[in-house]
Amino acid sequence: MPRKHPPRINVTPFDETVFNATKRIEVKRGHRYEIHYSRNSSHPYRCAGCNREIPSGSNTFTVIDLDHILGVQAGIDERRHWHPDCWRLFR
Ligand SMILES: [Zn+2]
Repeated sequence: MPRKHPPRINVTPFDETVFNATKRIEVKRGHRYEIHYSRNSSHPYRCAGCNREIPSGSNTFTVIDLDHILGVQAGIDERRHWHPDCWRLFR
């Protein structure tokens, strides 16, 4: 009998054109996070880790909580931007 594939996470697409690079999944604090790495961002953002500005033109991580308590769509809607170094320090 063929093995069942594990269930896939169904992520509603959002503005992918903002991102020009890879994404990956990381698990922190029991949540799966989808990390989008973006070079040379076109907008300034506020880092969710240190609360300081990420100037436009920086490298940023956009982080989606796939295990958001209100569901994946809420995780997408509330996605946060991080300095890569701040994200690495987040445990
Ligand atoms: Zn930061």
